[in-house]
Amino acid sequence: MSTNKSVKMSEDEINKALAKAEKEAEKKDHKKQWIERMIKSAKTYYKLCPYYDKKNTKCFLTLGDKCQRDGKYETCPIFISFLDNKYQEIVNKKKMLPMDFQDLALMT
Ligand code: SF4
Repeated sequence: MSTNKSVKMSEDEINKALAKAEKEAEKKDHKKQWIERMIKSAKTYYKLCPYYDKKNTKCFLTLGDKCQRDGKYETCPIFISFLDNKYQEIVNKKKMLPMDFQDLALMT
């Protein structure tokens, strides 16, 4: 006995679903690329995280929690999530995304 139940989708439905999935993937990809670009750009300006309070070893982005990474921000989830939020904010306001970290810092 076969348990192979197939859910029938019309060709139109399949195409719509595919187009939607592609669009979502594109959006994610664009955000990822922009975040990577911002990190790369930030690295040309800052050896340590721009939001790292060296004196007190605290993180400005978390409003004063201790930075657990000694200011190494390239893979810091807090830094990445900050960029993620910025991306969303700028896109929602339909503004141009800056291509340089300094320009982003000026917008904040
Ligand atoms: S926790 Fe991350 S964002 Fe905060 S200062 Fe440290 S490296 Fe920077």
